[in-house]
Amino acid sequence: METKIINSVEIASDEIVKGNVVGLPTETVYGLGADALNEDAVLKIYETKKRPDFNPLIVHVSDVQEFEKYATDIPNDVYKLADFFSPGPITFILKKKDIISDIVTAGLDTVAIRVPSHELFRFVLKLSKKPIAAPSANMFGRISPTTAEDVLKELNGKLHYILDGGKSSVGIESTVLSFEGGRVTVLRHGYITKEDVEKVVGRTVYDYEESVSSGKISSPGLLKSHYAPMTPLYLAEHTFDLKRLIDELDEDNIEGLTKDNIGIMDFSTYDNFRELAKHLFSDLRNLDERNYKMLFASKVKNLKLGRAINDRLDRASAGTIKYEDRKIIFRNK
Ligand code: AMP
Ligand code: MG
Repeated sequence: METKIINSVEIASDEIVKGNVVGLPTETVYGLGADALNEDAVLKIYETKKRPDFNPLIVHVSDVQEFEKYATDIPNDVYKLADFFSPGPITFILKKKDIISDIVTAGLDTVAIRVPSHELFRFVLKLSKKPIAAPSANMFGRISPTTAEDVLKELNGKLHYILDGGKSSVGIESTVLSFEGGRVTVLRHGYITKEDVEKVVGRTVYDYEESVSSGKISSPGLLKSHYAPMTPLYLAEHTFDLKRLIDELDEDNIEGLTKDNIGIMDFSTYDNFRELAKHLFSDLRNLDERNYKMLFASKVKNLKLGRAINDRLDRASAGTIKYEDRKIIFRNK
């Protein structure tokens, strides 16, 4: 099968209507979309990216008003949050209606719903008149794509078309929120931060770990490793000066590591977390293509959007590094 990058929303929409998968731009990352109401089409998503069938998909719709078609018992907080942040990178976990197949939700009785803001994705929703199930358009466990070319590299020969919508403006996946147990829990950190959500709902918002350990929500079984580059990535604490380490490595040649065979993710070129988030996956992808022996990155301050960035780094990493007594201490995951 030949895979083409296209600019036609009509062709992309036709693919959805025909029950095929298509690469679609969103503001978060590129998605691999299919008609969410067509089980065979949804199965093609899992097959194409080799996603395990226990990992549920997000259903994309064009408007908050549509939530009621696919979900029931929608808490008021959802409407409050949607007022502020939808269309945008925020996903709501809601009690599903029967019209949503178990294949979409991996057997869960809840469905993940989001209203994307990317103009072209919205156009495809409007033309196809279908809700679109779409995970990130990468092979399972690999780095999420943020350009049409990235999708081509990941899935060449596995789909007919990738709709080109430029570089994703957000660059990391949506914030996923659960409303189980009468509380708001962040299942996945994203562009919309916990603080943003707290301001709107006017009460404490919990982290996934807090809500699971206190028995307030059931665990949907989030996967630890994800977004992994081929080259092993090691993470240092955010206070750690990687550049200094590299200078010292060059003097001592510790463990055969030198300036030339280590790729450093240099975040100092970005003015703020938003810029960093936008370029995080593409930087990782670029370094991964350069045949380094290892990649090093320092985490960022675990605050606001920093939490989502650290989460992606953690998942992409093979382990951590420390530097003590002129020795690098590696700890694998
Ligand atoms: P992806 O679209 O690949 O970026 O991943 C979708 C994310 O949403 C994953 O982290 C899923 O575990 C999560 N998700 C989707 N549906 C549900 C659900 N019904 N309950 C909890 N998490 C979900
Ligand atoms: Mg993904």
